Amino acid sequence: MIAKQAEIEKRDKTPSPSEGDCVYLDHNATTPVRPEVVDAMIPFLRETYGNPNSVHSVGQKARKAVEEAREEVARLIGADAGEIVFTSCGSESDVLALTGAAQNVFNRSSGKKNRIITTVIEHEAMHGACRCLAARGFKIEKIGVDENALVSLDAFKNALADDTAVASVMFANNEVGTIQPIAEIARMCAKAGVLFHSDAVQAVGKVPIDVHALGLDLLSLSGHKINAPKGIGALYVKKGAVLTPVITGHQEKNRRGGTENVASIIGLGVAARLIREEFDAHLKKLSCLRDKLEAGVGALPGAHRTSRAENRLPGTSHFCFEGVDGHHLVVALDLEGVCVSSGPACSGGMTELSHVLKAMNVAPELGRGALRVTLGWSSSDADIERFLALLPRTLDKLRTSQ
Ligand code: PLP
Repeated sequence: MIAKQAEIEKRDKTPSPSEGDCVYLDHNATTPVRPEVVDAMIPFLRETYGNPNSVHSVGQKARKAVEEAREEVARLIGADAGEIVFTSCGSESDVLALTGAAQNVFNRSSGKKNRIITTVIEHEAMHGACRCLAARGFKIEKIGVDENALVSLDAFKNALADDTAVASVMFANNEVGTIQPIAEIARMCAKAGVLFHSDAVQAVGKVPIDVHALGLDLLSLSGHKINAPKGIGALYVKKGAVLTPVITGHQEKNRRGGTENVASIIGLGVAARLIREEFDAHLKKLSCLRDKLEAGVGALPGAHRTSRAENRLPGTSHFCFEGVDGHHLVVALDLEGVCVSSGPACSGGMTELSHVLKAMNVAPELGRGALRVTLGWSSSDADIERFLALLPRTLDKLRTSQ
């Protein structure tokens, strides 16, 4: 324990390698902003400063660019431009979707529909929105998952009831990468007349998504997971679906108040276009790198892959290592210039077993050694090789210092 504390202190005193020098394998936490995205944004910070809601030409120049970006975001997920609402982040999109839809259905049903169905493995933004709705009198039902973080379709079907207002199931899990049977769940909801939302913050850009073909009513996405800046998100709202706004104002066709973050919206549009244009090649690259990574780690003694679901994100790998503390492993790898995580970034390095691992019934002594390795646009073969070269000796060192 003292040795590990010393390791953490050493890390804190060591100047971190510049971002350009480190091997960055934490793309589910955030992604580097692509240079093309930065270049497209700069004129909207320097010269084109207009408010897109202004009638004059300075404002209308910004409006035109915002609408072009909206088209690009819509195209990436098979939506129409009018179905895209810009928000400040994925968390806000989640809150607007759940709260806005639940309140609207509740009002229109004169309070008869007040049940929300979701899952135990959602992001904290969703759990927080559920807590707020529960405090207002909504009934919240959270479906459990199996050992691979998969939601049971039978359990979901059984939970749908006459008083269900909204259902929400994440598209792909941010920790272990399991992809849910979203099309089937959407079909069940449509049959039951229940609005269906999916948090696709980790799935957009990594899984082909066509919101119309999937039959989704609402879908959240976030810029900083797809090489756009932090602080920009979007919500797909199916034509005809009505939300009670969380932030009131006339912007975004009365669906989300607040002057649009023009430069970041432009960045999101460019990131969406680049992903769409490079989609097949990108996915192939991610899958190859992930297979190499998992084969290498899988060969190490005491290493376990956490989710064995057939349908997983191509760039997300999660392992549990026997006899080590995941947080110490992250610090030790960071000292060698490799950035990974032991859980979701928003947990702030908590050492407690995450809610997702608990829901998957991972044994606490094994879950203690959790490590998430996530790949993205900038990942390379050399990154995986460096990680695989460093990992065995880092594990050995930590195990012998116990
Ligand atoms: N939903 C999921 C599944 C996520 O992984 C995240 C971020 O990690 C969010 C929502 C929140 O997105 P943002 O950081 O843009 O608020």
